[in-house]
Amino acid sequence: MPKYLIVGGVAGGATTAARLRRLDEQAEIIMFERGEYVSYANCGLPYYIGDTISERDRLFVQTPQSFKARLNVDVRNRQEVVAIDRSGKSVTVRRADGTEYSESYDKLVLSPGAEPLRPPIPGIQDELIFTLRNVPDTDRIKDYIEKHNVHHAVIVGAGFIGLEMAENLHQKGIRVTIVEMAEQVMTPLDYEMAAAVHQHLKTKNVEFYLKDAVNSFVREKSGLQVRLKSGRSLPTDMVILSIGVRPDSKLAEDAGLELGINKGIKVNEYLQTSDPDIYALGDAIVYPNPITGVESHTYLAGPANKQGRLVADNIVKGNKKHYKGSISTAIAKVFDLTVGATGVSEKVLRKAGIPYISSIIHASSHAGYYPDALPLTIKIVFSPDDGKLLGGQIVGFDGVDKRTDMLAHILKHGESIYDMQEIEHAYAPPFSSAKDPVNMAGMVADNIINGMMKIIHWDEIRELNLKDTVLIDVRTPEENALGTIEGSINIPVDELRGRLSEIPANKKLIVFCGTGLRSYFAYRILVQSGFTDVWNLSGGYITYESATQKQSNEDIFSAEYIGKDDHIYQGKEAALPKADSKTVDVDASGLQCPGPIMRLKNEMDRLS
Ligand code: FAD
Repeated sequence: MPKYLIVGGVAGGATTAARLRRLDEQAEIIMFERGEYVSYANCGLPYYIGDTISERDRLFVQTPQSFKARLNVDVRNRQEVVAIDRSGKSVTVRRADGTEYSESYDKLVLSPGAEPLRPPIPGIQDELIFTLRNVPDTDRIKDYIEKHNVHHAVIVGAGFIGLEMAENLHQKGIRVTIVEMAEQVMTPLDYEMAAAVHQHLKTKNVEFYLKDAVNSFVREKSGLQVRLKSGRSLPTDMVILSIGVRPDSKLAEDAGLELGINKGIKVNEYLQTSDPDIYALGDAIVYPNPITGVESHTYLAGPANKQGRLVADNIVKGNKKHYKGSISTAIAKVFDLTVGATGVSEKVLRKAGIPYISSIIHASSHAGYYPDALPLTIKIVFSPDDGKLLGGQIVGFDGVDKRTDMLAHILKHGESIYDMQEIEHAYAPPFSSAKDPVNMAGMVADNIINGMMKIIHWDEIRELNLKDTVLIDVRTPEENALGTIEGSINIPVDELRGRLSEIPANKKLIVFCGTGLRSYFAYRILVQSGFTDVWNLSGGYITYESATQKQSNEDIFSAEYIGKDDHIYQGKEAALPKADSKTVDVDASGLQCPGPIMRLKNEMDRLS
């Protein structure tokens, strides 16, 4: 009877154990977990802290008892595997009381996960500084908030977990300040897509500092001071440190298993380590990214769970199933926004020296004429040679999940922007449009790659010599009046055919509108009227504006007060609306440009 040992009892480990049992009823299966809990929902922890998940018990998918009853797996929680004797094929296990014993194996599976980074910053051991990895961390954070009068928290690091924590603490009425060393939040996104998240965070009264980092934590009588490199000091009641994780691979390292970048455990296509009797999976491994070929980490639950099944199959049936690598498909809710990413970003491709074209479109979550259609921005990167999709990022309010999954499906199968156009989707007005935004993104990419349209990007605009270039805003005068690119002229697309004589033939022409759609019509009018050096601004003014605005949101709590209406105001109390003021709701959702602005203007014109 074979004997299988598993190290780690959460995402990857628990899945492997369950599948092993389903494949082999006779095997002896022992799963070691250093902590108290197994098979719990780490992804749900921030939502339990924020009370969206109200019952703690809901976090536990299985218990050691239910594992035993249903799967006959011997779960040894609060026991840590501290050494592997590879030649003797046994492990040393340390119990909670410090005593040790050894256990032999035929096959060993390592799914030890990743641990939060805690760099040696002065003061980092302060008890007001928390990290979030597991249930005890969660209990500590929740307990601290409940027992102390926590008004303010600093979140260091604006990755997915940092932003989820920002939202959940904010939801509990705690003021949140985020400190991020990079120039943007959420590294899987490119800058202009992250800019949309920055602008959204501002509307939620979240304070955040970009391109700044913590120098030290200093405990004072009043609480904790977070001192930043910029010289700023943030007084706070607590700190959540979420600056990233690293593979929890010391056990593997000590056992002499081959490691890769950041000490991730190297595995082959069967998820076998450099020792054929030891398999590894989850956050602890490194594996070549299928798009770039570069050795990478994937700190995501989906891949860990799927790898668990593959490892069990390969152990029981002999190495037959190949692991193809993860394209890091991820999604997060950031207040009202949803942010999805799959494949690789433009900045990763640039760094890897892989040729690409990038394109941005803005669309609606569903048919504009059906109520509550909400904006959605899709950025894709693809190969200039054959249109193969290399990555996608989506920011929006509704339907981001399914579009991210559609792109992930295309990527996973090595398909192209041509295949994106052909995705057959379920359509009725409440759900999508007859051409889904993902189809549209593929069609726009087709126009670019096949020369129907040349595009320019928001960051290239600033480098242009305006002596040789004319920027033409083809939106209506009303839209133009609300903001445009400096130095541009305004010729609405519907007037363009009659005003061609105003446009110099010997200059580079850049057309733009809000999204890039009306300017595409303008582009086609111009090139078919004999203008040759014409370019359309990808993502239009919406992307340009959000990426070129101020990104950080500083000092918002320094001069604030709570108004009688319970809102937080800046400055003097006069900022309160007058008691006799009237609120007019304007439903401008789902309208095609320039619909929203025109609707707003019409309503304003009606006001006395
Ligand atoms: P884990 O699930 O972390 O399990 C590893 C376990 O091994 C740990 O419990 C550890 O105690 C145990 N262990 C380690 N060494 C030993 C040892 N020597 N002996 C005994 N036991 C040991 N991913 C998503 O895709 N979507 C999300 O929304 C998402 N949200 C997240 C939110 C939070 C707060 C966190 C912390 C993670 C989130 N993740 C999310 C990431 C996801 O949880 C991980 O990718 C996934 O759990 C990895 O599985 P794993 O088996 O590799 O490691």
